Amino acid sequence: MAPVKNGRVVFKEYPGKAFVVPGKTVVYDESETIDVDTVPLDGGVLLKMLYLSIDPYLRRLMLPTEERKAHSGVPPVRIANWAVGVVVRSEDPSHNAGDHVLGLLPLRHYSVVKNTAALMKLENKEGIPWSAYLGVCGMPGKTAYCAWKEFAKPKPGDTVFVSAASGAVGAVVVQLAKADGCRVIASAGTHEKVAYVASLGADVAFNYKLVPTMKVLQREGPINIYWDNVGGETLEAALEQAATHARVIVCGSISTYNTAEPYNVKNLQLLLWKEIHMYGFLVGTLEPKYQEAFYREMPAKYAKGEVKYKEHFVRGLEKGPEAIVEVHEGKNFGKSVLVVAEE
Ligand code: NDP
Repeated sequence: MAPVKNGRVVFKEYPGKAFVVPGKTVVYDESETIDVDTVPLDGGVLLKMLYLSIDPYLRRLMLPTEERKAHSGVPPVRIANWAVGVVVRSEDPSHNAGDHVLGLLPLRHYSVVKNTAALMKLENKEGIPWSAYLGVCGMPGKTAYCAWKEFAKPKPGDTVFVSAASGAVGAVVVQLAKADGCRVIASAGTHEKVAYVASLGADVAFNYKLVPTMKVLQREGPINIYWDNVGGETLEAALEQAATHARVIVCGSISTYNTAEPYNVKNLQLLLWKEIHMYGFLVGTLEPKYQEAFYREMPAKYAKGEVKYKEHFVRGLEKGPEAIVEVHEGKNFGKSVLVVAEE
């Protein structure tokens, strides 16, 4: 077969402290080609990308290296993300053509992977859609599962507040909290998202763009657990309305990822007076402890309909740059998945 274009999504320019600009800071590039029949594998595999996860943290990978190093353990410049691919050719006896694998893969159509130990072969005995391994049965689901188990310490009847509750992480947290007998307050940014989180079991669901979070929490609190996906003023409101001995799980801070200045939370003193425990975490740290239980439970529960999951598909790798900014603008409704190719 003649070489074909091997399109890729490239972080081209540091976006500064503002939203990514598709076509400028992140671009789709078709300058490279690949001959899928002859490209050398050096003992590895040739993968064709099927589904690529679009996660808010991709924005973080665009920070300058020193800043990224200072703030977390994310390795420098990695233009790759969680993806499901199918093996096209293999020189590794543990992988056969047609196998589906999950890995941190470059944002491109075809990739040669030499370090096949970094790939997870998906047996998928439950027969769930492959894309679910990027969401409810992938990194975001694992984020919710691991940190809820590690930090929430729920008691039946506890009041839990979840922000960005309709998203990939938030929707799983709502369901875990309900399964543990908690009363759930959930916020989201559109009428449809609010209706969706209510359908997941949230007892109180509201649109934070229409009703101030502080007002809702004043009425429905005090809260025993706050799952923070957004940071900023929402975190401040949650601390204000927290109960004594509340647990605050700091998962994300999306309201501050694209702003010129960091948001300085003004009431941290409440951690002292209310003896609040606040936990920041990165999923990769908790993963080894919970990985086995997660894959034993979550795909089976999803297959049986015991855990609900919604996906937001964007079709075509060339739409990658737009998809990356859309999760920061709230345009995704459910887990954002870039469909690169369909089988
Ligand atoms: P989502 O699927 O929830 O998508 C992001 C959503 O955030 C948007 O749809 C939007 O929903 C909401 N949002 C955007 N801007 C704001 C804002 N200014 N204020 C309030 N909400 C906003 O993403 P994920 O579920 O993948 O991620 C959720 C959070 O978890 C993120 O902060 C992410 O960085 C974090 N995360 C952390 C991990 C860890 O290891 N600690 C791992 C994975 C994710 P809406 O319309 O409701 O505003």
